[in-house]
Amino acid sequence: MSTGPIFDRVALIGFGLIGGSIARAARLQGLAGEIITTARSAKTRERVMELGIVDRVVETNVEAVQDADLVILCIPVGACGPVAAEITGHLKPGAIISDVGSVKASVVKDMAPHLPAGVHFVPAHPVAGTENSGPDSGFAELFINRWCILTPPEGTEAKATEKLRAFWTALGAKVEVMTPEHHDLVLAITSHLPHLIAYTIVGTADELAQVTSSEVIKFSAGGFRDFTRIAASDPTMWRDIFLANKDAVLEMLGTFNEDLSKLTRAIRRGDGEALLEHFTRTRAIRRGIVEIGQDSAAPDFGRPHQQLTKK
Ligand code: NAP
Repeated sequence: MSTGPIFDRVALIGFGLIGGSIARAARLQGLAGEIITTARSAKTRERVMELGIVDRVVETNVEAVQDADLVILCIPVGACGPVAAEITGHLKPGAIISDVGSVKASVVKDMAPHLPAGVHFVPAHPVAGTENSGPDSGFAELFINRWCILTPPEGTEAKATEKLRAFWTALGAKVEVMTPEHHDLVLAITSHLPHLIAYTIVGTADELAQVTSSEVIKFSAGGFRDFTRIAASDPTMWRDIFLANKDAVLEMLGTFNEDLSKLTRAIRRGDGEALLEHFTRTRAIRRGIVEIGQDSAAPDFGRPHQQLTKK
């Protein structure tokens, strides 16, 4: 359902999975009078022009932000500080400047010092994604029923936060506001640690001497393949996330290692009761996620199964 334009001009810096999904959804819902975008490479900019989703594709970040009422940085978190420094003198007074980075405290620390008085800084993180990247990977439905976390620094005008909330709500998201530090702790356990584990296990399997790589791939339906989806996520983005959220990730990793030691001990001692108790608890968490609509109830993540036909 369209709500009509919320901003006259929206500038998206970066047009990959997230920027491209915002553009598609905002256009579909008519949330912006005009959508301007840019990307780092000429190749991406050309592709965005071919896609015909936005009103204008410009060459530079500075051109993109001219007269924009909402500017969203849709780029790796490590690039947010330098881009903020580049556009600072060109932002429209009263504009809202935001981002979509998966880490918040470091983005606030890197961007805030560059932003002039009179613009409203409201960082955001849509907790939605896929393992794909690039201008073709986005889709308008990505944010539907997913959470978008806003982390306005202290002193941010409530009106600006509410306007950005309205924008994300119209994109289909549910919005929550928290501090950047709390966001980083929550995401360290719900997103960053799972990615680290997936990157580790897929790497470990690849290096095993006793089991060949072709066997790992062939028998991956035993569970391994579900890790490979996460481990296929964009390498640059994830390098930046671990560098930027180091403290929270290390804290969660410490707790994880303790719990892994407990399970290791239970296996070594043949303590079936401890294993059963643990696995029963984790199964209930999965059910809770399905119950609140954050994943499908279909078995095997809803993968289609071929029909067995009688020979
Ligand atoms: P993506 O598909 O790889 O797109 C990234 C975009 O940023 C591209 O347009 C790229 O331009 C541009 N870019 C890359 N490096 C840059 C730099 N140094 N300076 C300026 N622009 C640069 O990435 P994405 O998945 O949309 O992720 C973008 C942001 O969203 C990241 O901060 C990530 O943490 C956050 N996020 C991602 C997900 C997810 O699941 N992917 C979910 C939530 C939030 P070129 O194409 O020209 O290189």
